[in-house]
Amino acid sequence: MSFLSGVFNFLMMMFLFRAAVTIFTALRLMSRRRVRRNTAEAPKSPFLDAIEESRVFDTVVDEYCGVIVPENEAYILMEDDGPRYFHSWDCRQKYIAEKKAKG
Ligand SMILES: [Zn+2]
Repeated sequence: MSFLSGVFNFLMMMFLFRAAVTIFTALRLMSRRRVRRNTAEAPKSPFLDAIEESRVFDTVVDEYCGVIVPENEAYILMEDDGPRYFHSWDCRQKYIAEKKAKG
């Protein structure tokens, strides 16, 4: 009898887990659609798409190489017009070197 109730509990846990995942996925899809619709008139480019993705998933775009990186893992360079994000220290150093080369 305790085996059966164990199975029952397990199935209930699975059901609740599945329900939570389904709700979470639905909410995420809804928020993505809202972002897409608001920017429907903006010019389309892979770079702008990447920025939209970064808003949805709390990530930032490394403008140097185009890689999307979680904000808390990005290397940040503060500039006059705001922070600039890089996915690696290498990218950050290369960007600084190129900027210096340009003058
Ligand atoms: Zn990079």
